[in-house]
Amino acid sequence: MGIRLGCVADDFTGATDLANNLVRAGMRVVQLIDVPPAGAEREMDADAVVIALKSRTVPAADAVEASLRALAWLRSAGAEQIYFKYCSTFDSTPAGNIGPVTEALMDALGTDFTIATPAFPDNGRTVFKGHLFVGDVLLSESGMRHHPLTPMTDSNLVSVLGAQTARAVGLIDHTVVADGAEAIKARIEALREDGFGLAVVDAVSNDDLVRLGAAVQGLPLVTAGSGLAVGLPANWGFKPSRAAAQLPPAGGHRAIVSGSVSVATNGQVLRYLRSGQPAYSVDPLRVAAGEDVVGRALAFAESHLDEGPVLVYSTESPDTVRNVQGRLGSAEAGELVEGTLARIAQGLVDRGVRQLVVAGGETSGAVVQALGVTGLRIGPQIDPGVPWCAASLPGGDTLHITLKSGNFGGPDFFTVAFAHLDEETA
Ligand code: ADP
Repeated sequence: MGIRLGCVADDFTGATDLANNLVRAGMRVVQLIDVPPAGAEREMDADAVVIALKSRTVPAADAVEASLRALAWLRSAGAEQIYFKYCSTFDSTPAGNIGPVTEALMDALGTDFTIATPAFPDNGRTVFKGHLFVGDVLLSESGMRHHPLTPMTDSNLVSVLGAQTARAVGLIDHTVVADGAEAIKARIEALREDGFGLAVVDAVSNDDLVRLGAAVQGLPLVTAGSGLAVGLPANWGFKPSRAAAQLPPAGGHRAIVSGSVSVATNGQVLRYLRSGQPAYSVDPLRVAAGEDVVGRALAFAESHLDEGPVLVYSTESPDTVRNVQGRLGSAEAGELVEGTLARIAQGLVDRGVRQLVVAGGETSGAVVQALGVTGLRIGPQIDPGVPWCAASLPGGDTLHITLKSGNFGGPDFFTVAFAHLDEETA
């Protein structure tokens, strides 16, 4: 049987977030890193596939091209409905990429109407009268107004999206959404007849998203943050179940690779160090000086892997990081550390690590690429938004891996993650 829902996500951690929500609503989900070659779709054993692109901030034409390739692949895999996933803060500019990608997908699918809502009430993202709130404040008053690539200075999504599309953008407001799926459907029909091609939809609660989910059954395309995933799987009769998150049994050694410098990860690393478990610190300045940091880290890990999880980390306080960045340049330091940690992760896997925690969004991308991982089966959630996944290594072995972006996870995340895997795959 082919897949039901095919998703195109505009970045990697957003893709995981969506996949995680779909699993929790009862679908078995595979996340693919970029569009696989044609033909691979025949091996897909999943109810939904999420293709992770890096199309959020690239030029609009490139985002459109990549999204259309993803769409073609998902359709050949049998997807009955397409979900374009973007950020819950609607990260975009008047040049795109949400509008142009949406319109290109609509044209390719031959559909004249779709909806847009970044609402994800569980994460404090709500849409009311077309205005997006981040927690208690309007998007335009949130930190997003200073974002370096996609500053969001207008909270009115009808006008934000309208500036990015040739089609007219309407609104399905909360009074309609509160009335239920039939009312939403009627409003969609009315908007369509009035010549609208898109509608921003209000949602201030999960119940709103569930009603919206039921109403968009049959639309070839939906566009949303990851919140709408709460309401879609039920359209195919899926219900929350442990079976949806089932992963193969875990084995092998355990390790943690942390290149995140966020506050939460700093706390998690500190907690782990205090517990007295083996840990190796990667100093970017030593790497830059040409020392064999990779070799030393791996020698250290090799002598401790039998004892339990080994942590290899570059995580440091903001002051230390600023000092390194001042000496090496920010981008250069980032690339240097990502490359080093990716080679260490590869070395750890070569030494029998089959359960790996990676901390840091960019770090995760570098590690996954170095390991040659092209797809992840999404398993049970450890902490909100962070699931365990199973990946096939190029040699055929299974690697259990979790990719934690910066500020996710509780203070004991590293310890909790492995305990969780023991319970879930026992
Ligand atoms: P997060 O998800 O917390 O933002 P990322 O991995 O996405 O984590 O980003 C952290 C960036 O900081 C990466 O580019 C990483 O290579 C870089 N980095 C990590 N440790 C250091 C360090 N000690 N000094 C300078 N840069 C670092």
